Amino acid sequence: MARFDYDLFVIGAGSGGMRAARASAAYGAKVVIAEDNRVGGTCVIRGCVPKKLLVYGAHVREEIEDAAGYGWTIENASFDWPTLIANKDREIARLEAVYRDLLAASSVMLVEGRARLLDPHTVEIAGKQITADKILIANGAHPVRPEGFTPENSITSNEAFHLEKLPKRIAVLGGGYIAVEFAGIFNGLGSQVTQIYRGEQILRGFDDDLRHGLAAELRVKGIDLNLKTHVKRIEKAGNAWRLTLDDDSDLEIDRIMCATGRVPNTADLGAEAAGVALGDGGAVKVDAFSQTSQPNIYAIGDVTNRLNLTPVAIREAMAFADTVFGGRPWAMDHDTVASAVFSQPPIGTVGLTETAARRRFGALDIYKASFRPMKHTLSRRKERTVMKLVVERSTQRVRGAHMLGVDAPEIIQSLAVAVKMGATKQQFDEAVAVHPTAAEEFVTMRSKEPEPAGVKAAS
Ligand code: NDP
Repeated sequence: MARFDYDLFVIGAGSGGMRAARASAAYGAKVVIAEDNRVGGTCVIRGCVPKKLLVYGAHVREEIEDAAGYGWTIENASFDWPTLIANKDREIARLEAVYRDLLAASSVMLVEGRARLLDPHTVEIAGKQITADKILIANGAHPVRPEGFTPENSITSNEAFHLEKLPKRIAVLGGGYIAVEFAGIFNGLGSQVTQIYRGEQILRGFDDDLRHGLAAELRVKGIDLNLKTHVKRIEKAGNAWRLTLDDDSDLEIDRIMCATGRVPNTADLGAEAAGVALGDGGAVKVDAFSQTSQPNIYAIGDVTNRLNLTPVAIREAMAFADTVFGGRPWAMDHDTVASAVFSQPPIGTVGLTETAARRRFGALDIYKASFRPMKHTLSRRKERTVMKLVVERSTQRVRGAHMLGVDAPEIIQSLAVAVKMGATKQQFDEAVAVHPTAAEEFVTMRSKEPEPAGVKAAS
């Protein structure tokens, strides 16, 4: 008789957990997966996918405005929030059903309920105890609010997807991915948006040219972006809320959305009972192979707080399955991972920022382009595209490629192959342009930026 009920117990049916469960089952493992919410996890149910659908919805407004420059008259255009939300919900339900079918087709057993580790091989769920040889923790993270903000006075991205009404006035707190994406969504759909960020500039960690470029674009689009600003007080004001900022100014709004970070779901996991060590902010500590301090327990995705992106979790899942059940050990390389911010306009980025590259390599050659996209010559929209290549001077390798502008995520995905391969600037130059596109700028930039003051001596 088998020593354990299953070969693998996966906690969390999100992008990472699903992939690990199916890939392990394909190697012949007997697999069970637990989910206490909807199958699909953050990305599919309350993250990337519904967010992008709302971004598309919000962008229609600009398409309608831009149409005039092309001779079109579109009269009586109006927007209905409940229709968008209902259509989005239908699509998410369809995807969830697809995910459930995928599990069934790969003979992975689904158990619905909250899983808790009792010891290194036992999980308690839905009143039952299930044992497994290996356990994979892939249960993600959840949004957090700063002190003073509660479910009563504020929403997070979780609730933003299900509001009954589009708020007339909304304040978005934070300057990260989620804050800029939702500020853009609400603004595009017609809300009056105030964004409040405590730091010097939004999107800390991104290349400075993109950060400044996006902040300027958000303002042009009508978002009231307040930097170096804190909320001092929040109080009820009739049906609305009054926010007092640190300069003592008041702001009356209908909704406040906290987009102030996410924390790993480990508070109630039983990590200690299973001998799984936690690190900063409650993240599960893992090695390069996603193995925890308890050798038969692994963890992937946002719960490990390494690089919190869906495709990263999926790759960590593949590495886990190949290593543990496929007999082909390999570790996910977290270096040079491309990502996008679906702000309006969007950002696509791969590799090092100028600041990080200077720190690592010293002397750099920087190439930049800033222009009005062709589409906006006739639409007359005042939106600029920014592109930038960060080149290590001594090897001429392109260490970073960054773009703010229409289609940036689509363009950067392909460039990520070249940057990951270590292509040089000359190899970029040898690729003939596709004309007329915005992307061609990445292979036609020829003039180096002047050396910034203070850098000359060092390099
Ligand atoms: P981020 O960590 O990116 O941003 C959190 C923001 O909130 C920062 O601007 C931070 O400021 C601010 N903040 C944190 N604590 C407080 C506080 N107490 N008071 C005021 N402001 C505060 O988190 P997000 O929630 O935006 O996103 C979470 C993760 O999800 C990201 O790391 C990303 O990996 C992933 N994600 C990816 C997306 C994509 O790929 N397109 C889209 C959405 C999310 P400061 O900078 O000063 O710390």
